[in-house]
Amino acid sequence: MNTLFKIKNLNMHYPIIDGLMGNIKGYIYALNDVNIEIYENEILGLVGESGSGKSTLGNCILKLITPTSGEILFNGENIINKSKKELKEFRKDAQLIFQNPYMSLNPRMKIYDTLKEPFIIQGIKNKKEIDERIKQIISLIGMKDEVLNRYPHEFSGGQRQRIAIARAIILNPKFLVADEPVSALDVSIQAQIVNLLISLKEHLNLTMLFISHNLSVIKYISDRIAVMYLGEIAEIADKEEFFKNHKHPYTQALLDAVPVISDKKREKTIIGDIPSPQNPPKGCKFHTRCPYVTEKCKNQHPELYEISPNHKVRCFLCENKCC
Ligand code: SF4
Repeated sequence: MNTLFKIKNLNMHYPIIDGLMGNIKGYIYALNDVNIEIYENEILGLVGESGSGKSTLGNCILKLITPTSGEILFNGENIINKSKKELKEFRKDAQLIFQNPYMSLNPRMKIYDTLKEPFIIQGIKNKKEIDERIKQIISLIGMKDEVLNRYPHEFSGGQRQRIAIARAIILNPKFLVADEPVSALDVSIQAQIVNLLISLKEHLNLTMLFISHNLSVIKYISDRIAVMYLGEIAEIADKEEFFKNHKHPYTQALLDAVPVISDKKREKTIIGDIPSPQNPPKGCKFHTRCPYVTEKCKNQHPELYEISPNHKVRCFLCENKCC
């Protein structure tokens, strides 16, 4: 497996500015010492509750925001200190699909102009080349050329998300961050978009970070799964291992919270709310909600322990690989 992204010791701490004087009165600890690799041609599913840092991680990886510290290696090169010109090149290779297809398309632009815009930004002017690529991509997302002359409001949510995906892949990127790409859509449409992303991944040799709070969707689309909690990776494993042999109490709580239609009694919610990232608990960050908490958990911070190849868990129960 070749590594496309290697993320090392990544921190994102947003300062909280106090009033007119601009003093820093604290920080929001959105990402804390995140170390993770994304392999070429995989879909890495990133799951966690809202406020866990998933989107912040996606935005840092695309350098849409600059992290407080750490490294993001893309094909071995750190993108954090890249110049504007170098970043422009990087943006051809790495794109974002937003959650909300109603917001991500300019309502005043025809679909043709929306799809042409990335070429203009990159300084590509050959009209024949642009038009051929646009037609090719429109067909790849299952739409017809006639849509090019229409405006976003003429389409349903699912169709708009297809167009937003077309815009993200128009320059033939290597990597996509899909940030909750189906959560704003009707359930009946979600599977179509997820299947489209899987087929594009195969067809275009894409690598993808797929962010969702929905474990059913993550299970369907991902090759590997990482769980985030309060800005940290709590557990990461290959999909099969993850569902058969998950170990972190938070992973278990997330799985228990997935509704089971045939057995309503099993439907539970995770106890309590996720603590504020402005004031995270010391020790294990999950200790305020964990049924297995001990004194050690309240005072010491667990590492991400490797319990088998490709399976890591941040919990003292797994400290000696005997969980
Ligand atoms: Fe629970 Fe302790 Fe494991 Fe944290 S380290 S998840 S509090 S058992």
